[in-house]
Amino acid sequence: MNTSAAQLRIALAPQLAPTLPTLPALYAVVDQLAQDAFDTHPDIACPTGCNTCCHQASMPAVTGTEFALLYTWMQSEWTLAQWRTLASDLETLYRAHKTRLWAMHAQLNQAFDPPSLARLIRDIQPLEGTPCVLLQGDGRCGVYPVRPSKCRAHGGFAFDMNGQRHPQACRSEVERWHSSDADLLTLPLWNPFEQRLQRHLRFESDTVTSILPLWLWAHRTGDGWGERALLAPDFNTLERSF
Ligand code: SF4
Repeated sequence: MNTSAAQLRIALAPQLAPTLPTLPALYAVVDQLAQDAFDTHPDIACPTGCNTCCHQASMPAVTGTEFALLYTWMQSEWTLAQWRTLASDLETLYRAHKTRLWAMHAQLNQAFDPPSLARLIRDIQPLEGTPCVLLQGDGRCGVYPVRPSKCRAHGGFAFDMNGQRHPQACRSEVERWHSSDADLLTLPLWNPFEQRLQRHLRFESDTVTSILPLWLWAHRTGDGWGERALLAPDFNTLERSF
């Protein structure tokens, strides 16, 4: 492991992020930087095989372009049994937490500031312990090769909110950060990658960000699943219809 090369990549990442031409290119860089962060901080790195973040109110926010990549991959790779389990799990989640899920959707599509972040955290808290609907029975991510950017960055990045850096990690990782001597400035910064995702790496008709369960819910049909990914589902009508 060459930690000085890793730290150099981390230091240069904010300049690199705005130049990334495609979503797969961004994913490759985010994967490398997360690995660089773990190599630099082996005492804090997420243990191999850990899926804690997929269990802790895990509702990754994704753009339509990210969802299209993920859904298209699922259509070619998933078995009928996986789709059936997903339909059942999604139905259970939606019926139990419909209001909360739509509140999170609304928060994601308005200006992001400390009060709205606080509301988002408040909305997520009652979902504590609710697993991601894409987590499989064997504990693995069901879409690992095409998992969203938030999942790739989790544990290895920090985000800046009003000039203060915070670890982008599950609660136990955050506690480990705060009880260690590690400097958050040595973690790659997520903000430039979020800006790239939101402003440039979208198709023209891709205008909405939502949480993964609602993207999937928008692709349910009467007897199964939509044939292709929609970049701009009518979320307003969907919210009113169930
Ligand atoms: S998409 Fe995969 S990695 Fe992300 S929260 Fe769900 S199961 Fe975990």
